[in-house]
Amino acid sequence: MLLDCVIIGGGPSGLNASLVLARAKKKIILFDEDKPRNAVTHESHGFITRDGIKPSEFKRIAKEDLMKYSNISIQNQRVIDIKKENRSFLIHTEDGDFYRSRKVILSTGLTDIMPRIEGINNFYGTSLFSCPFCDGWELKDRALVVISEDQRAFHMTKMIFNWSKDLVVCTNGKKIFSKEQKELLTKKNIEVIEDEILTLQGDKGQLKKIQFKNGKEILREGGLVTTGLKQASSFAESLECNMNKNGGIETDKFGRTNIEGVYASGDNSISTPSQLIIAASEGTKVAMGVISDLINEDF
Ligand SMILES: Cc1cc2nc3c(=O)[nH]c(=O)nc-3n(C[C@H](O)[C@H](O)[C@H](O)COP(=O)(O)OP(=O)(O)OC[C@H]3O[C@@H](n4cnc5c(N)ncnc54)[C@H](O)[C@@H]3O)c2cc1C
Repeated sequence: MLLDCVIIGGGPSGLNASLVLARAKKKIILFDEDKPRNAVTHESHGFITRDGIKPSEFKRIAKEDLMKYSNISIQNQRVIDIKKENRSFLIHTEDGDFYRSRKVILSTGLTDIMPRIEGINNFYGTSLFSCPFCDGWELKDRALVVISEDQRAFHMTKMIFNWSKDLVVCTNGKKIFSKEQKELLTKKNIEVIEDEILTLQGDKGQLKKIQFKNGKEILREGGLVTTGLKQASSFAESLECNMNKNGGIETDKFGRTNIEGVYASGDNSISTPSQLIIAASEGTKVAMGVISDLINEDF
């Protein structure tokens, strides 16, 4: 059977794209390995009507919405290969199945790369986060740390200062601030510690203490960390899609990449800012792009 569209990745972007495609009577399959970027968190914030929802509950409700449409199938498995063959695509899954589709949407998301600091993963998603808009409210007015080894440290510190004035910035051995930046941080009573971190300590995800290699210790209750980001799947590379300067897949307003029939939406194309509601709206736009292109081809 020739499908109209295959959506790879069932985060908010792929889920919303699937909804809009299903409602346009398209025959589609959504493949989802179910390893979203925010799986480490207990609550998601800032999505109206869903503020504070558990990420797994968000997906459960979304899939319930999709199951109302008989023209969509949801498969919980990883896609391992996509081949462009003339005007269609051959999709190969980890279960050894093959599917053919006219269009492919990559909604595969990003993966965070944490700084190499002992213990940091124990706190990420519970008391250490990467986005003040997502979790700033939960951190407000607490004793916080900003852990950053690169130039984003100053911007991140400035942002989180809106939520708490009790800040320490740790660069884990890196010298990243200019003299002017350091002076400004000092004026705001923000301590900068450039010593190497030995370990982060705490209990059940709640950060309590940061120990440095020189024996120094500070008490902190939570904070922000700047993470590296990489594509969660390498299809953009194998299909030879152009990338933008942020490491996202380059698309037009409706998610079309430079490869005809390949579309991208969500974190993997916008890169930043990363938000559920933005990814979901990108999903709607990419679905509109696919539907318009199918209509134009068939009319
Ligand atoms: C710690 C943390 C906390 C966050 N908190 C918030 C918050 O409170 N509010 C908010 O708005 N945003 C939050 N975010 C950001 C939010 O999680 C992302 O912006 C959003 O998940 C992006 O949606 P997406 O659909 O693009 O990708 P994702 O949600 O990452 O979904 C991608 C999906 O594709 C699947 N996939 C990848 N490759 C394949 C493949 N080859 N085959 C099949 N499936 C595949 C993955 O397993 C995954 O299920 C947070 C992020 C992090 C890291």
